[in-house]
Amino acid sequence: MPYHEFKCSTCIPERKQHAVIKGPGEDLTSALPLGYLSTIPGSISERGCAYCGAKHVIGVPMKDVIHLSHGPVGCTYDTWQTKRYISDNDNFQLKYTFASDMKEKHVVFGAEKLLKSNILEAFKAFPNIKRMSIYQTCASALIGDDLAAIAQEVMDEMPEVDIFVCNSPGFAGPSQSGGHHKINIAWLNQKVGTFEPKITSDYVINYVGEYNIQGDQEVMSDFFKRMGIQVLSTFTGNGSYDDLRGMHRAHLNVLECARSAEYICNELRVRYGIPRLDIDGFGFEPLGNSLRKIGLFFGIEDRAQAIIDEETARWKPELDWYRERLKGKKVCLWPGGSKLWHWAHVLHEEMGLDVVSVYTKFGHQGDMEKGISRCEEGALAFDDPNELEGLEAMEMLKPDIILTGKRPGEVAKKIRVPYLNAHAYHNGPWKGWEGWVRFARDIYNAIYSPIHKLALLDISKDEIPVGKAVETQVMLSDADLSEEVRASPDMRQFTGKFDGLAALRGKTYPAFEMKTAAAVE
Ligand code: SF4
Repeated sequence: MPYHEFKCSTCIPERKQHAVIKGPGEDLTSALPLGYLSTIPGSISERGCAYCGAKHVIGVPMKDVIHLSHGPVGCTYDTWQTKRYISDNDNFQLKYTFASDMKEKHVVFGAEKLLKSNILEAFKAFPNIKRMSIYQTCASALIGDDLAAIAQEVMDEMPEVDIFVCNSPGFAGPSQSGGHHKINIAWLNQKVGTFEPKITSDYVINYVGEYNIQGDQEVMSDFFKRMGIQVLSTFTGNGSYDDLRGMHRAHLNVLECARSAEYICNELRVRYGIPRLDIDGFGFEPLGNSLRKIGLFFGIEDRAQAIIDEETARWKPELDWYRERLKGKKVCLWPGGSKLWHWAHVLHEEMGLDVVSVYTKFGHQGDMEKGISRCEEGALAFDDPNELEGLEAMEMLKPDIILTGKRPGEVAKKIRVPYLNAHAYHNGPWKGWEGWVRFARDIYNAIYSPIHKLALLDISKDEIPVGKAVETQVMLSDADLSEEVRASPDMRQFTGKFDGLAALRGKTYPAFEMKTAAAVE
């Protein structure tokens, strides 16, 4: 029987069906952990709520927008700034957070007047920003405030502004994933088709499910622009509100994070006939295949191949350097949703790491199925873990590193398991060829940091050996390597810049002549 029962959860027997160990030759379909169900009472979840999923994950990366929560300030604070989805407009959406700050009296007497005065005050405080998203919370949903009516009232009074309303209170689903779905469909229903964009290329895409964590979107857009592709909109990292209103004019939806944004792609196909193509920006091989697929779709695969050849030649020697030093290291891959299957196989194939466990907080069974199929035998896969299960798993598996969010990450640090933030990164961007090597460098730095040895010393004792100098990372990582590998002229450490984005933001691209008659206004 492949189901795994955590000792700490024997008092919650329903948890057993949420964890499996991938055994040799076992039938995956009969052993898939349950997923995307309400958290079992008694198990303390690490999930976020549906409001958080709508606002924090998908809404707020839109850059030229006042994002206002209609609810208690605590909801707003919980969804502010912990994810580094930067933007090229000086990070406006990260710098400020807005809330109507509902109190008990508003719950009793209603908060619509409060909301309207907050909307007006926010537009007055930032006169250059003419776009707003308003997010419902549990409190404003329970008392029945009509956010759409208030937004319309303001738009009637101020024709220069445009407001989007997202009705996704915390209780609108078992996890943040419920909010992803709600905001996808709300955006499509309210805003897509209300703005006509300028078309400047024969090849026009929406880049969907990409949130520009530490610049990922800007790195990927660089490849698209080098291929002569117009990125009409990005849903939503570094994305502009009005560009996203024009999504209906794209020729292709290029989908990165299917878990959070496949809904809008599927509906754009139904309503506007725009096909969906799933891609992956992480790892040399998956990224190369992705650009090739897009190139094939438009008949410009030669442009994709030229980028693949150039980038691979530039960065492969550096990936190889890290691969030699990471081979066989054990990793717990515990991100939120789709990274478990974006990363599981490619961490193994390209960095030599062994993925000993995958988990997901808000993924669905399909995410688990893909993730498990890409793991090695013996991997522990579990859904919606509680903190004690995470600890028990780390004690059992003894990973060399854990890739996860900050809550389990901080727990891991306490038991001296190195942790990298799989949600907001440590030193991203991690997409692109350079980004993938930067990620390998971050993993290497985490695993071989001399601090772990020092942290094990009991400094209250006098008998600490003081004669030995501190060991460096390279001393630790290269101790068991052959001289041939150590001195290889074909491999080198990461040579990328700390800030690779400044150059991208000022870059100009070759003009590809349009085959169609003229640019369409
Ligand atoms: S569950 Fe409700 S009250 Fe809690 S953060 Fe989410 S919206 Fe706010």
